[in-house]
Amino acid sequence: MKLREIFIKGFKSFADPTRLEISEKVTVVVGPNGSGKSNVVDAIRWVLGEQSMKEIRAQEREDVVFWGNEKRPPAQTAYVELVFEDEGNRITVARELSRDGTSRYILNGDVVRLKDIKELLMQRGFGKNPYSIIGQGQIDKIVSASPESLRMMIEEIAGIGIYREKKKEALQKLDATQLNLARISDILFEVD
Ligand code: ATP
Repeated sequence: MKLREIFIKGFKSFADPTRLEISEKVTVVVGPNGSGKSNVVDAIRWVLGEQSMKEIRAQEREDVVFWGNEKRPPAQTAYVELVFEDEGNRITVARELSRDGTSRYILNGDVVRLKDIKELLMQRGFGKNPYSIIGQGQIDKIVSASPESLRMMIEEIAGIGIYREKKKEALQKLDATQLNLARISDILFEVD
């Protein structure tokens, strides 16, 4: 799956609708300090479901909505859309947040749950910790990671992480079912 386009509107410093095309080879974003280069990466993290405010350099959820300046009023919503190409298919993933706190995720035009987006991404190697985004200082971490953490990273990149998640969910359901069974046995015992 390859990222092809990023569309940003009302997110952080991007007051105007902005479309960035990602080339087949290398795309470099250049600009003076504070011009919004890192905000592009924040936008990608955000649309992929980032929940940590620290990771997207914000204090509160609504901080990502363009807060206005002397020339422009604040935006009412932040919207980011990524267009991926996956084996000839076009996949669009979008996230929208209004100033009143209303939020939604959109997959190929349909409103979906964050879980649906995460599952799709995990199947394609964008795990919970998407190593497709290498932040500053992360290379050092990878070089000095333990064999166990390295294996986890490789499994996530290879798209195996989703099965670990599914196994965890299944084991939780199994635990709950076993508890229910124990309860039913108690009731049967009392009835007898
Ligand atoms: P550097 O080269 O110094 O790392 P940069 O080009 O990566 O800079 P960013 O860190 O992406 O720049 O952008 C920071 C700018 O984004 C700041 O000027 C900040 O005021 C602005 N900014 C952040 N959030 C918002 C927001 N919600 N509304 C408007 N502007 C915002």
